[in-house]
Amino acid sequence: MYDNLRRAVLHRLDVLERAVDHADPSTLLPLARTELDRLVTGWRRLLRSHGADESGRCAACSRGILARRRPCPVWRLAHQQLLDEGPPHRARRRFLRAR
Ligand SMILES: [Zn+2]
Repeated sequence: MYDNLRRAVLHRLDVLERAVDHADPSTLLPLARTELDRLVTGWRRLLRSHGADESGRCAACSRGILARRRPCPVWRLAHQQLLDEGPPHRARRRFLRAR
């Protein structure tokens, strides 16, 4: 089950990545609108599930060493992906794909 889910998600990311690199604007614009909406909704849901408890720690990452880190890794990643200047997104994609 997990492998199928994982493969499906990675395949979808590959499809979207190819579209970014190769799709013509008439295909890419409607796809981008749909996917941006899904992206925003998905990030909001994920970040909501990693909200802080009364002590300011992430309720989802409240065990082990992650419990000591604030903000939690999910919020750090959100900041990095959505706001950081950092390396260009294309370079990040190559790095993430190699893992
Ligand atoms: Zn968390």
